[in-house]
Amino acid sequence: MKIDSYRNQRWLESTLDYIWNTHFEDVPRANNVEIIFGKKAKRRLGSIGLDKDDPGTSIIRINPIFKDLDVPEFVIVATIVHEMTHYAHGFNSPLEQKQQHPHRGGVIRREFAERGLEYMYIEQNAWLKENWPGILDKYFEPTAYRRRNRPVKLKLPWWMSGL
Ligand SMILES: [Zn+2]
Repeated sequence: MKIDSYRNQRWLESTLDYIWNTHFEDVPRANNVEIIFGKKAKRRLGSIGLDKDDPGTSIIRINPIFKDLDVPEFVIVATIVHEMTHYAHGFNSPLEQKQQHPHRGGVIRREFAERGLEYMYIEQNAWLKENWPGILDKYFEPTAYRRRNRPVKLKLPWWMSGL
């Protein structure tokens, strides 16, 4: 997949550093944390995992469809904040694990709110609901994720199935 965009590896890294310095300055960078574009996906916007070759390194993977300039920057920033929240909560990071489950109980939204970013959480959800299916049409066969044009009904937002 080739998308012409200023959103390259260097941009990803500086965006992560910016978010860390401005909104997560209280969270220690306790190991090596990398950020890369992963595989394109319909539902997984981002993920955080440990490097299988080097478990001392955490890797944040971002959906490469986010290089598409029809996706506003705040949607990507919100995705990085989401993955940073998992890191801060001790999921796939050396930090103390704060709760049993990475998503249950509204912990992600609460973390956005405590960091003054609840508006971003809300706007990301609204933007995805409105625009993500249209973006996916450019990169996937539409029928692969929609059945007879009816929206998929799930309790959780369907684009949030990743960790
Ligand atoms: Zn998550």
